[in-house]
Amino acid sequence: MVSHPFTNATSGEDFPRLLARVRAFLREEVFPLERDFLSKPFRELLPALREKRERVKAVGLWAPQIPREYGGLGLGLVEFARVSEELGQTPVGHYLFNCQAPDAGNMEVLMAHATDEQKERYLWPLLRGEVRSCFSMTEPEHPGSNPTWMSTTATLDGDDYVINGHKWFTSSADGAAFAIVMAVTDPEASSPYRRASQIIVPTDTAGFRLVRNVSVMGHEGSDYASHAEVRYEDCRVPRRNLLGQEGHGFQIAQERLGPGRIQHCMRWVGISERAFDMMCDYAARRQLAPGVPLGSRQTVQEWIAESRAEISAARLLVMQTATRIESEGAAAAREDISLIKFFVAGILQKVLDRAIQTHGALGLTDDTVLAYWFRHERAARIYDGPDEVHKAVVARGVLRGYGVDISI
Ligand SMILES: Cc1cc2nc3c(=O)[nH]c(=O)nc-3n(C[C@H](O)[C@H](O)[C@H](O)COP(=O)(O)OP(=O)(O)OC[C@H]3O[C@@H](n4cnc5c(N)ncnc54)[C@H](O)[C@@H]3O)c2cc1C
Repeated sequence: MVSHPFTNATSGEDFPRLLARVRAFLREEVFPLERDFLSKPFRELLPALREKRERVKAVGLWAPQIPREYGGLGLGLVEFARVSEELGQTPVGHYLFNCQAPDAGNMEVLMAHATDEQKERYLWPLLRGEVRSCFSMTEPEHPGSNPTWMSTTATLDGDDYVINGHKWFTSSADGAAFAIVMAVTDPEASSPYRRASQIIVPTDTAGFRLVRNVSVMGHEGSDYASHAEVRYEDCRVPRRNLLGQEGHGFQIAQERLGPGRIQHCMRWVGISERAFDMMCDYAARRQLAPGVPLGSRQTVQEWIAESRAEISAARLLVMQTATRIESEGAAAAREDISLIKFFVAGILQKVLDRAIQTHGALGLTDDTVLAYWFRHERAARIYDGPDEVHKAVVARGVLRGYGVDISI
């Protein structure tokens, strides 16, 4: 195992000890759930997962990323990044610790922008793990990579907003208590960044229609492990459900996505570490002939060496970015965030592919977690901004240093 060069800065408990407790809990109490996770419909697993969430609370590891005054462990971004890597080593890790997307992002947004009444009604139940939520921005008819362009509208009618629109990939909408919806409130605003607002919509509001859980890579999924198509049809909510100021939807979305991308990247480092461990273990155990381990082949050694270097580099880059966000804020780290987003997603896919190849046919089965991740994490190069958009952000930043300002 590779040691981490970063030390505890803010948490009450000695951080290495806390990290060791997280690691041990996952290995002893969560890894054994994976067989059921891979072989049963998600809904059947939910009672066991809910029980395990109570265990996480009981052992004092609940909501590590949440400030103490909101009932979490109060870890800073750098510390949480390391916890996130551990949680990423198993598919249900983040959910069990109440730091899974999209709830984690919604909690952050609600902590920063909700009124006291909104906090009472929406944030606290989320923090306690009593409800789930979703974030509804992307539309099938418009490019998600340009979220300033959307058709969903929220029109004021007396003291209500009336929302009409069509969304998809609203992750975890199935069974969620509420959605945070991006909708255009001022189509005439001169800046496209000031046209939309974020509005809280309880999912039992008349006019909120979950059309289907979209089948992704052969799986419809359910509950928090799903991506819904949703229609808002004259969906009326009180004006007090506006989150933050009118016209600030895009700004709030940007605030959420910076740290959110760090969390995804660290989760991907965790997945890569686990796949790497499985690859090495199999290369050592699998015999090509009596006394000839698979790991004796140079090709496999190359995969091991390259994966080791790439995962370690990815971790360092992510930690460097997290450190910068902590000291200078997410806006200053915008290009760093874009860099790790495409870089780590690419490493993840390479490492998973090599691990599957090393396992041969076994790698394609659901007897290991590799195939699940291979299917599930292809999306890493698309959600929260496709690779190409993030590469453009990085390249333009570099070219600015050469006196060229490309804004299109
Ligand atoms: C698993 C998953 C979960 C998601 N969860 C949510 C969620 O909870 N809530 C939500 O609102 N959305 C969610 N999304 C949507 C996601 O944010 C969008 O898919 C993403 O922003 C890309 O938008 P798009 O799919 O419309 O692709 P488009 O914007 O149509 O882009 C298509 C392709 O064009 C290329 N491209 C786009 N822009 C450029 C550019 N500027 N330069 C060069 N090439 C470019 C890229 O290759 C891109 O893949 C999720 C998506 C996935 C896959």
